Amino acid sequence: MSQLPQAVPRTWKDWKGKDPIWCPGCGDFGVLTAMQKAAANLGLDPAGTVLVTGIGCSGNITAYFRSYGIHGIHGRALPLATGVKAANPDLTVLVAGGDGDGFGIGLSHFLHAARRNVDVTYIVMDNQVYGLTKGQTSPTTPSDMSTKASPLGPLAVPLNPLALALSAGASFVAQGFSGNQGELVGLLEQAVRHRGFSFVNVQSPCVTYNLVNTYDFFRQSTKAVTHDAADWDAAMRVANDRSAVPTGILYRAQRPTLQDTSHPIPPDAGVPGAVAAAADPAGAYRAAKGRFDAWLDELRVR
Ligand code: SF4
Repeated sequence: MSQLPQAVPRTWKDWKGKDPIWCPGCGDFGVLTAMQKAAANLGLDPAGTVLVTGIGCSGNITAYFRSYGIHGIHGRALPLATGVKAANPDLTVLVAGGDGDGFGIGLSHFLHAARRNVDVTYIVMDNQVYGLTKGQTSPTTPSDMSTKASPLGPLAVPLNPLALALSAGASFVAQGFSGNQGELVGLLEQAVRHRGFSFVNVQSPCVTYNLVNTYDFFRQSTKAVTHDAADWDAAMRVANDRSAVPTGILYRAQRPTLQDTSHPIPPDAGVPGAVAAAADPAGAYRAAKGRFDAWLDELRVR
């Protein structure tokens, strides 16, 4: 855990922790800087912010971001973060990791956190490879890409994180590119502001082990989304369109969070409506269920 500053920081540099040991040029530098700028722009308090990470090159980011942090075990960042948020709903909870950590061993946690609408922001540094363990193919490696450690390629089709998040019920789904700071900072700010599970997949090149999905590749293939973010069907179409790499907010909706639908809710939990919910937990549950059912009807996913 980094030593915390005494006052709320005013610039992104105040969110700097230890010096990163990533390879020079790693895309994760851009993600870290964007997180620091977003935190500063939002006026977050490092003492009220927790960053939970899994294992991988990107998991080291807890040491580089000056807030409270938990560098957890492989693929388990989201359950840890769910516990942190449940224990203290007042905290801003950020979760970060790589594609191997989040879409490999941690895949089921990703889907269940999305469908439960846990009120955390999940940032995945997606570089389509396991960098920390010398370049094996990962769940998002293109099927026709080989690496030094996996010369035959993945021998599988790649997962589609955006489509998975949408189909699992994520209430905020976005994608950024670590080489486009201006857009990424804005996406992270909106993700943190969102009440519910916000997922930001960031194309973050591994300059050492992925020589296909490079900065130049993404500069040429990214395309800003233009559809209405409330339109789930349009978001799904964009997520499944492999002719470009979409960036921007694909989908955003409000629905009850896990904290809203859990009961009984202690009256001092700081959750909106918690006092009324404590007085009438069954009524509060029915109301939350009604809002949830209306949301399902809207999406036609029953
Ligand atoms: Fe970044 Fe790849 Fe180096 Fe890991 S191996 S620090 S992901 S460039």
